[in-house]
Amino acid sequence: MLRTSLLAAARSPLARKLVERNPLTKPVVGRFVAGAETPDAVTATRELVESGRAITIDYLGEDTTEVADASHTVKAYTELLSALSDQGLATGADVSVKLSAVGQALPGDGHKIALDNARLIADAAAGVGATLTLDMEDHTTTDSTLDILGELRADFPWVGAVLQAYLYRTEGDARDLSGAGSRVRLCKGAYREPASVAYQDKAEVDRNYVRVLRILMEGQGYPMIASHDPRIIAIAGELGIGRQFEYQMLYGIRPQEQEAIARRGDTMRVYVPYGVQWYGYFMRRLAERPANLAFFLRAMATR
Ligand code: FAD
Repeated sequence: MLRTSLLAAARSPLARKLVERNPLTKPVVGRFVAGAETPDAVTATRELVESGRAITIDYLGEDTTEVADASHTVKAYTELLSALSDQGLATGADVSVKLSAVGQALPGDGHKIALDNARLIADAAAGVGATLTLDMEDHTTTDSTLDILGELRADFPWVGAVLQAYLYRTEGDARDLSGAGSRVRLCKGAYREPASVAYQDKAEVDRNYVRVLRILMEGQGYPMIASHDPRIIAIAGELGIGRQFEYQMLYGIRPQEQEAIARRGDTMRVYVPYGVQWYGYFMRRLAERPANLAFFLRAMATR
């Protein structure tokens, strides 16, 4: 119920204004978001890389309704990739892109605009030795996102996809994407989805996660296990014995566990969001975990 309300608020312009304009919110947001500008993302990257962790960086933004905003997002990513390269941090880095931030939701030509823009980012990533992963958004975008993935992979075979264990369709998508060279991030799923397309029960989502994980681990691709859930992490460790894969977690969440995984020699990649459009991302983090919401409310009450 609380999760549903917070996810509804994540898409509400009024709730957005109320939260964004509250001066007390910003310090709390800082736990989950690396900063507003490119140098903030570079600083966070350096700290993480020095502690043995890899990174994927997300320039925050989604549901873009203007072509100019989509182009601005592309520019932000190309500047970021060039700044990472200047600092010797680009090799092995990854950027995570939401296609709705580069035009997918624009009426008419949205799909093509998003494809062209994603291609520009993939090209910039290739130029500095980095990779690109396409984030997955709500289920109405899944087909378009997977189509764009297929088109990009013709030129950039290392572009990665995200699959969400809460969707019924994901088992089939995982089989399609389990071939050689395919990079697939498996997560539980962060959006509010109807029962017609997604499991509603947490235990069912977890069971499907493990089913899909098995398909990816038995396939020829490179699985990326995006979860903070200790049980999922343990199961991935067992299923992944003798093959290459990586763990992924979000910036600011379970940092000690992130470091412990990196210390034992496994690849631990941290998803680092930055930029001023943090609202939707932040609300999804609050919806995921009552403790995150309690942290937020406590911080507001003590300021
Ligand atoms: P949950 O079911 O939220 O938590 C399970 C258990 O994990 C908890 O019981 C607890 O033991 C532990 N845990 C979780 N959070 C914490 C915490 N803050 N502190 C301590 N313990 C904790 N979703 C999308 O829809 N599309 C995407 O493209 C996408 N990309 C992602 C990329 C990465 C790298 C990650 C990590 C997540 C991504 N997500 C994405 C979000 C994802 O779908 C989930 O909403 C989110 O990761 C929460 O699910 P969980 O697997 O961590 O487990």
